[in-house]
Amino acid sequence: MTSAPKPRISIIGAGLMGHGIAYLFAATGHEVRVHDTDTVALEQLPRRLGVIRDLLAGPITAADRVSGHISLPETVEQADVVIEAAAEKIEIKRLIFSAFERHAPKHAILASNTSVIPISRIAEDVADKSRVIGAHFWNPPHLVRLVEVVVSAESSRPAALKMVDLLRAVGHHPVLVNRDIPGFIGNRLQHALKREAIALVAAGVCDAETVDDVVKLGFGARLAVLGPLEQSDMVGLQLTKNIHDVLISDLDVTPHTHPYLDALVAKGDIGMKRGRGFREWTPEQAQAVRDRLSQFLADAAAREAKKA
Ligand code: NAD
Repeated sequence: MTSAPKPRISIIGAGLMGHGIAYLFAATGHEVRVHDTDTVALEQLPRRLGVIRDLLAGPITAADRVSGHISLPETVEQADVVIEAAAEKIEIKRLIFSAFERHAPKHAILASNTSVIPISRIAEDVADKSRVIGAHFWNPPHLVRLVEVVVSAESSRPAALKMVDLLRAVGHHPVLVNRDIPGFIGNRLQHALKREAIALVAAGVCDAETVDDVVKLGFGARLAVLGPLEQSDMVGLQLTKNIHDVLISDLDVTPHTHPYLDALVAKGDIGMKRGRGFREWTPEQAQAVRDRLSQFLADAAAREAKKA
């Protein structure tokens, strides 16, 4: 008996996220086409796929299933699933989704990997909303298994459920997001934490390094195995309530981007790329952080694979 052909995947954007998503599907036997408007990004694609393969000791043939294309119509014309991972700008994403409707097969699922933009805003010009969903992977997408699958409208729920099946089949851990709200679940939580972190530094309570230490060595040390609500259930909700009764009214509620962050960006202190952000970084220190993260996630993925 021959098994059903694997869905053909098209990815728009060969950047940080696009190449990792391409690897994930190619390594599990899918044919993957990748489009980018930047020829350099397309030229770098095979090398970047090779780096992931070496890190994961993955199948030697994975990169052979990925092709790079400068033409968007050619990239999506035979797709079963299209994943947009281009720049985080709504105008760019809207144009790309309009092009999907013109050039992708009618049955193809159209997904965006946007970090925070509501999917329905990206797909405003798409007539058939039932095909449109969010598929929010985390960086690096070949190592972090969670994907938030966003139901952009009630009619898109069947497409979202198909995406959930597809992601499970490649070994990832999809979760459904039932409302199309900015930041979905993960980025709302992550940026609620960052809002308070920035406010603490801006108020002189501590420096940025101390914030990072408190998270990494304190409650962050257990976060990968104990979510915040299971932790509350574990210690008891009375304690959580007692803490909230004292604390909640004191947390930062700045209703816009914090002026401290605005000022750093205005000065050009945009992070490791420039040697200074919340903290100062030499190129070696920055590379050490990247290597530490990559190795930590690769080890965790290897442990998961052994368990499966
Ligand atoms: P990136 O800058 O590394 O890559 C984006 C790629 O898209 C670039 O190669 C660029 O040339 C290409 N591009 C830009 N406009 C295009 C167009 N009109 N058509 C085709 N290609 C185009 O960015 P990234 O970090 O890979 O992010 C991609 C998307 O994924 C964004 O929406 C981002 O918010 C989201 N995302 C990023 C992360 C992350 O941690 N970087 C995590 C989750 C989701």
